[in-house]
Amino acid sequence: MDDNSPPPSKTELVADWEHLSKVFIRPEDDDCRATLIKYMERILFGLHEFLKRHVGITEAKSLRDLSRSYMRTEISEDPEKKLADVITCLINETAPHAVNVASPYFVGHMTSAIPYFMVHLKTIVAALNQNVVKLETSKVFSVVEKQVIAKIHRLIYHMDEAFYAEHVQNTETTLGVFTEGGTTANLTALWVARNARFAPTEEFRGIECEGVPAAFRAHDVDRCVILASRLVHYSLRKSAGILGIGNDNVIPIEVDEHYQMDVNALEETIERFKSRSPNTCILAVVGIAGATETGTVDPLDAIADVCGRHNIHFHVDAAWGGPTMMSREYRYLLQGIEKSDSVTIDGHKQFYMPMSCGMVYFRDPTILDVIAYHAHYVNRRGSVDLGIKSLSGSREANSLILDSALKIMGSKGYALLIDHGIRTAAAFAEEIRQRPDFELVTEPVLNILTYRYCPADIQESLGRKKQEDKCRINNELNKVNRDLQRMQREAGQSFVSRTTLQGDRHCPEDIVVLRAVIMNPMTDMAVLREILDEQENIAARFCTNDLPEA
Ligand SMILES: *Cc1c(COP(=O)(O)O)cnc(C)c1O
Repeated sequence: MDDNSPPPSKTELVADWEHLSKVFIRPEDDDCRATLIKYMERILFGLHEFLKRHVGITEAKSLRDLSRSYMRTEISEDPEKKLADVITCLINETAPHAVNVASPYFVGHMTSAIPYFMVHLKTIVAALNQNVVKLETSKVFSVVEKQVIAKIHRLIYHMDEAFYAEHVQNTETTLGVFTEGGTTANLTALWVARNARFAPTEEFRGIECEGVPAAFRAHDVDRCVILASRLVHYSLRKSAGILGIGNDNVIPIEVDEHYQMDVNALEETIERFKSRSPNTCILAVVGIAGATETGTVDPLDAIADVCGRHNIHFHVDAAWGGPTMMSREYRYLLQGIEKSDSVTIDGHKQFYMPMSCGMVYFRDPTILDVIAYHAHYVNRRGSVDLGIKSLSGSREANSLILDSALKIMGSKGYALLIDHGIRTAAAFAEEIRQRPDFELVTEPVLNILTYRYCPADIQESLGRKKQEDKCRINNELNKVNRDLQRMQREAGQSFVSRTTLQGDRHCPEDIVVLRAVIMNPMTDMAVLREILDEQENIAARFCTNDLPEA
């Protein structure tokens, strides 16, 4: 593949009105239609051929070599390729260097296989090209969005029939919004919490209007903080930065030995701010339902009670774990989420939607009024235009995908996927415990676990070592695990990710761990055993010299 070759000099391809109009006019003759259908067929079936060969960032062609093929920066004046050639080139030459996130051996990230029907649904979204920023460009899809938002709201908050009858299609109220992803969902939640807290007063027109310094003055506040588990996703820090709160003011709360937020530490922190810094505003507490690194779930119920007592906005980041609510068996893990003020859920994670789709939900159907914007030419007051209360402007009709998927799968279908992930992760943890060369580092609560290569004799002796020896041994193990993960990735057969768990009061050193995310229903114990076997082989061949003395 080479994208550097200069555009063909003598070309039969020309840009003129005759050719151009053809791509805008619906093809009526049979030949044309047959051709377009053939292209769609190649996309559906041709694209996935490459997926059979390898899973990831192999060294077959290094990123460096690849980037050398993508150096040309001028736009050719004449057309370079026909649609057929573009599709052929994408399928045969570009896609083979993409990452096979759909492989059952790709268990490293929160991106995985999606049901094949998602491609059909995504195609419908593109074909209709609705813009749900306003009613005039979306009509029925604005109501579809309100309906599916109400369905998920109900899954979270279980309000009564009358509540949903009143709000499902109410043009004045909003139960939630679609966003680009979890990051912008979290940003929206904090934006709403900020604007609600620094609301207009008699002399003050609100923080959105007058900005942070005026808001602090008007409300007699000199600092704003957000309290969140140490494991909180970095999008919360990003949001605090954007909102003028400052990312230093996302205060990490310690976790217990199960990597769940320590609720006593949370209470103490709140009490400390209240007694020592009465002019500090605690804007929100964030609980995580499915931490990105460990998959752990904070004690939402207990956190909700603390927030209730202190009257603090309680946001749950369920970007990952949200769909667990559809599992009868495991929904108890998220107990307390119904007491939250807002919830983030990603559609492109455990709703298995194509990239990208986030959502944020609010218990109070009027709270989104604090971020309402009205533009004269688009969102007129009192209209149902969804863009009025949304961070995004133009956006696609993602609700169509989620609503259809819920119909195709049923909550039971999703529950089967969730249950499979959680059970397989538990079985994988057991397998890791059985193998003398591995150490389970974080127990799976949902479908994510972390472990590391650490032979039994070293595991056993680590407990007896002095702190400084422990530190040195862990550093050496960290290097081994880093190398191991990289070598497995480069071999291209399977992919497990790697992260560093920051030292804390339970374990002072930073620990490099291998992280497995089990969301592909085709990932079973046979696959996971193969992945461990491969890691053992790599370690035996390349890493033994680097291992610390037991
Ligand atoms: C993935 C994730 C996010 C960020 O979501 P994006 O869709 O990547 O923007 C936030 N929080 C948690 C817990 C996540 O797992």
